[in-house]
Amino acid sequence: MLLKFFTKKKIIIELPISIYQSFGFSKIKTNSYSLKNERCGIVVGTRIDYEKINITHLIEDKTPLLQNPFQVLRVTSHIYPELIRLIENNGNIDYLGEWHTHPNGPICASWIDHSTMKEMVNNLEFGDLKWVILMIFLPDQKIVSYYYENNNYSKIECNLI
Ligand SMILES: [Zn+2]
Repeated sequence: MLLKFFTKKKIIIELPISIYQSFGFSKIKTNSYSLKNERCGIVVGTRIDYEKINITHLIEDKTPLLQNPFQVLRVTSHIYPELIRLIENNGNIDYLGEWHTHPNGPICASWIDHSTMKEMVNNLEFGDLKWVILMIFLPDQKIVSYYYENNNYSKIECNLI
């Protein structure tokens, strides 16, 4: 009977390949001789059910507060008007979480990434979110994604569709 308790439902993100390509993420290549700045923004879409998260839009902060090959820091006011406009025009979509690139590594979230995301959950300052996702776009067409809820996180799958 305990087995049932430990059965975890698998969450999968679906990202349209057209969005992925339009942001140029497929062109990020591993090349230590040309350090590129990290980029960042927010993820918008719909959670169809517990297991399925559909991304409909990515919004980028094109003028972040801080930006270099190993750090990026977005500003909510740079993104919020676009988010509101999308929600008004599309109806059933909402803020789902954050994205950024790691053009120069690491190939996973850093501890700063994890602590930043954990801080957002159940925090009134961030709109009392129950959960959030983080997507990191890596060189060579790799994506690593995480799901944060109740001060825990897990790595989740992201499929380009
Ligand atoms: Zn990071």
